[in-house]
Amino acid sequence: MDRIYLDHASHMPVDQRVLKIAEPFLIKDFGNPSSLYSAGLEAKQSIEESRAKIARFINAENEKSIVFTSGATESNNLAIRGTAFRNLKDGKEVLASAIEHISVLNPMKELQKNGFTFNIVPVDSNGVVDLNKLDDLLTNNTIVTSIMYANNEIGTIQPIKEVSEIVHTKGRYLHVDATAAAGRIPIDIQKDSIDLLTLSSNDLYGPPGAGVLYVKPGVKVQTVMPGGGQERGLRSGTENVFAIAGMGEAARIAQKEMRKENARLEKIRDKLINEILKIDQAYLTGHPKQRLPNHASFRFSHIEGESILLNMDMYNIQIATGSACSHKTLEASHVLLAIGLKHEEAHGSMVITLGHSNKIEQVPVVVKAARETVERLRRLSPLAKKR
Ligand code: PMP
Repeated sequence: MDRIYLDHASHMPVDQRVLKIAEPFLIKDFGNPSSLYSAGLEAKQSIEESRAKIARFINAENEKSIVFTSGATESNNLAIRGTAFRNLKDGKEVLASAIEHISVLNPMKELQKNGFTFNIVPVDSNGVVDLNKLDDLLTNNTIVTSIMYANNEIGTIQPIKEVSEIVHTKGRYLHVDATAAAGRIPIDIQKDSIDLLTLSSNDLYGPPGAGVLYVKPGVKVQTVMPGGGQERGLRSGTENVFAIAGMGEAARIAQKEMRKENARLEKIRDKLINEILKIDQAYLTGHPKQRLPNHASFRFSHIEGESILLNMDMYNIQIATGSACSHKTLEASHVLLAIGLKHEEAHGSMVITLGHSNKIEQVPVVVKAARETVERLRRLSPLAKKR
């Protein structure tokens, strides 16, 4: 049976058109962008072209606001630790929603160990940030507030414009992790008044190994990785020209094709949701409407996500359960706990994120495999037998 890949939120293939643009920088047109001979200048030129493409992608004021990093984790660290350390004398408070990625929550926990106040903004049962609580928790000492554009695990899209208005009444900077949202929904930095924004190349069908932190002009941030002073001193280390050039092209293609591709994926998503919810005790997680066009996430009572994943794999169907990044822990997902699920409910999750390779014809195959998987696991589950 052909493989059906349904885990695009954790990894994406590189678009062939992107590879065509990027590949020469690995083999033929290589050169250190800091070198002054032609090969170096050409490499530098390709980085600047990519910077311009990314600036257009998010409607940034100018190209200088785009800082290339190695990926979303590094961008999140730079945004949070970089602003916290740079603005020490103005306050030592940081704020994040309860469903942020661990690459946001963990840097904030580190700050907390070092004397910062770290508060968590709760979300409702659909995963939408509680705006009143956000307002309550903000103070004049809140240096950075991190609210993601959309959640990778439950697909919920946040009301970022409203979040931004609230954050800017008292707090200083709004950081938005747009890793899951970019390429799925249009992002306009200026319209939403965002101060710092994280992007990841691979989540746009670009090569892994590049990311971006958008830093609004005037935002005070310091490097968290001192060295040779590349990227305006904010991110030292020889640039990954291959991945950076690829990321720019990936963003250009996403901007051009997003609307059409997402209308296609939405149809597949809705059919999947409709059909999977017909399985006994299957529930949607995340917002029923305000959700990413490629995102369908569920939970099933009385069974374990790990077993669902491995059983689906026997059908050659690749799905996720909770966040790929926390798999090693086998703990219930903090996102599912934050939307109010009990531990035992949070364990039975299945996350489907669609991409280019998916087709509507795959829906019945996936639904049949999911139904058989759930029924098989429930036959084995002592919890299901107790009912
Ligand atoms: N933020 C979000 C919303 C994510 O989904 C991920 C993982 N894809 C990350 C940050 C971290 O990305 P990476 O592991 O590529 O650094």
